[in-house]
Amino acid sequence: MTPYNESGARPIIPGQDSWSILRNLYTQMGISEKVQDLGEEVCDSLKDRFAQFDQTAEANQLKVLGAMQKNRISAEHFNGSTGYGYNDAGRDDLERVYADTFHTEDALVRTQITCGTHALSLALGANLRPGDEMISISGKPYDTLEEVIGIRPSRGSLAEYGITYRQVELKEDGSFDFEAIRQALGPKTRLAAIQRSKGYLTRPSLSVDQIGEVIRYVKQLRPDIIIMVDNCYGEFVDCVEPSDFGADMTVGSLIKNPGGGLAPMGGYIAGTRECVENCAVRLTSPGLGREVGASLTVNRSLYQGLFLAPTVTAGALKGAVFAASLFGRFGYCCIPDASERRNDIIQAIEFGTAQGLISFCEGIQSAAPVDSYVTPEPWAMPGYDCDVIMAAGAFIQGSSIELSADGPLHEPYAAYFQGGLTWEHAKFGILKAFQKLYDAGLVSGI
Ligand SMILES: *Cc1c(COP(=O)(O)O)cnc(C)c1O
Repeated sequence: MTPYNESGARPIIPGQDSWSILRNLYTQMGISEKVQDLGEEVCDSLKDRFAQFDQTAEANQLKVLGAMQKNRISAEHFNGSTGYGYNDAGRDDLERVYADTFHTEDALVRTQITCGTHALSLALGANLRPGDEMISISGKPYDTLEEVIGIRPSRGSLAEYGITYRQVELKEDGSFDFEAIRQALGPKTRLAAIQRSKGYLTRPSLSVDQIGEVIRYVKQLRPDIIIMVDNCYGEFVDCVEPSDFGADMTVGSLIKNPGGGLAPMGGYIAGTRECVENCAVRLTSPGLGREVGASLTVNRSLYQGLFLAPTVTAGALKGAVFAASLFGRFGYCCIPDASERRNDIIQAIEFGTAQGLISFCEGIQSAAPVDSYVTPEPWAMPGYDCDVIMAAGAFIQGSSIELSADGPLHEPYAAYFQGGLTWEHAKFGILKAFQKLYDAGLVSGI
């Protein structure tokens, strides 16, 4: 053993190999040698999966690069605009880059879109008219959409504007119920919504292939129906996107995957010219549409974030399977498990006890680059019927492409975690969380 120096850290010995230096650093950062060994064993077992994620990142990197080159992005694009934001070439060409990346006719990518919920609300409100009906064909939508739609009565909901709603459940195995969808399509049906990621439900996330199949089915029956896909957490997980299979609108948040951790805010809608134009006039004003909307100083971050997004997403995926494999070995139920296909970056781990969930979140928090010294506490959050614990030490408030975890304090005491701007940080956070559980006596059999 190398002795500790006065500051308590082990000095690095000249000539030491990088492996020993790494091991020393992990020890200094609170990971025991036993847990380090276990981590290495898990990494070794995941080599093939990691190679697959890297290959997907490589393909998506070329897509993004190709789109930037085609649109002749130059340094001038990083100059923003103020006031009305007229003639903002950086903003307008970023939208072309998104359209070319998602293979759509058009895209709206704006900092004025405040979050994912806003982007989805905009896409719906802009393309539905009084008397129309929307249907969700992937079961219950994300929590925040309940108020957008008016499933839970809410001020300004689509229901208040005379837009009705129907829902078709997924089948027991999580696949689309084609027959029920056919029966649900009525004369008033104008828009069908699909949610790719499970969000915070326990159903499996949907693959782009599955989504493509159902789009084909609906379009064959009713070519007039607009298909909107909530793509949150799904971008760049696969080499193809729902927009490659005929989705009229593919919608998401820039503080998740496509912002690459650098976008400080914003949302996108990629889709047909008609649908995107409707969104533009709804976001600003009829008659003004996409011509206004100052980008201030953020264009560079949106471009650079999109450029990094494929590799950042791959890092988050590695973290997700690493956690599923590590915790799965000790009997914790992981959804999806370490061998399943990935359709989004969310990983659920069921701890079965409040202490397990809390220890996990404490570990994630203590591994953060920001606010690592704070201890997350369960608290009563609006919209939840029990206390919720959240861990996040992010550069961008609420950014969930950065390593973050949360979970409601009730059975089965599941943590939902996602992100990590680098695989190295995701790995460290998960080891730290595992160490917390180990120290609390919640993992046995090492
Ligand atoms: C995150 C998310 C949303 C909403 O995004 P916010 O930015 O939190 O408003 C919607 N749908 C899904 C599936 C999501 O994961």
